[in-house]
Amino acid sequence: MSENPITTPYRGRFAPSPTGPLHFGSLIAAVASYLEAQQQQGAWLVRMEDVDELRNVSGAADDILFTLDAYGFEWDGEVMYQTRRKQAYAEAMDKLVDQHLVYRCTCSRRELRENAIMGDYGLIYPGFCEHKDHPAHKEHALRLRTSQQPHEFNDQIMGLFGQNLKQDIGDFIIRRRDGLFAYQLAVVVDDAFQNISHIVRGFDLLDSTPRQIYLQQCLAYPAIEYAHLPIAINAKGDKLSKQTGARGIGKKPDVAMLVDSLKFLGQQPPDNLARASLPTVWQWALENWKLDAVPRQPKILHRD
Ligand SMILES: [Zn+2]
Repeated sequence: MSENPITTPYRGRFAPSPTGPLHFGSLIAAVASYLEAQQQQGAWLVRMEDVDELRNVSGAADDILFTLDAYGFEWDGEVMYQTRRKQAYAEAMDKLVDQHLVYRCTCSRRELRENAIMGDYGLIYPGFCEHKDHPAHKEHALRLRTSQQPHEFNDQIMGLFGQNLKQDIGDFIIRRRDGLFAYQLAVVVDDAFQNISHIVRGFDLLDSTPRQIYLQQCLAYPAIEYAHLPIAINAKGDKLSKQTGARGIGKKPDVAMLVDSLKFLGQQPPDNLARASLPTVWQWALENWKLDAVPRQPKILHRD
């Protein structure tokens, strides 16, 4: 059956975790996702990925929004908070349960460390609990059955990437032992709910993408286009993050830092742009943004 081509409106998003202030590493993802959405005349949404409640820092979400606003980012609609979306995640979980794709797992971290094989992306879950049918009253996580099918996609920056989920990852957790929904489930449910068509984010999430595509398929959600950006690392090779001591970018807009983020993303702003006004920088960036110019490198050193 042939269908008429549907032109999906572009809907992008920026989805920080409120674990601390915005730093240079997160600014890169904000800038790239924003400019790409603007250039495609699409919408740009902001979502607080606060599903892992144990990591949230009080006040960080407001702090991030304040900083984004000060830098001149304009988002569409209301900011979404994952902590308010538990009902939606539970409903998605039920759909997976109905398809017999979910089982209870009681393995401890230690058991897995001692018995599971370390793969390229972490410990590969060996399926210990797949046929054990643990009773519900026993403390457990919920895992999603994976398949041997390769899950490949063509990343707009990094090119073709694929995994065999069963072999490379194993059946993965969608609800944790402590009752919190896993990031992988939450992000997929939210992207579908917000009709996100394009995701521009850091390379560290590239290896989560096949799991997310698989979840989209299990839940009969539309497919999404992906572009994974190089991530900023420090001299020790660690990703810039609050944990590795990355400095916050401050609440006042730092034009030079914004221009630095454009350079990091392979754009070629003129030398005098770092001394221009904030609106001038944005104007230049909107007129000159090229996703094609972003380096196809997983990591780039950033000197703080
Ligand atoms: Zn288990």
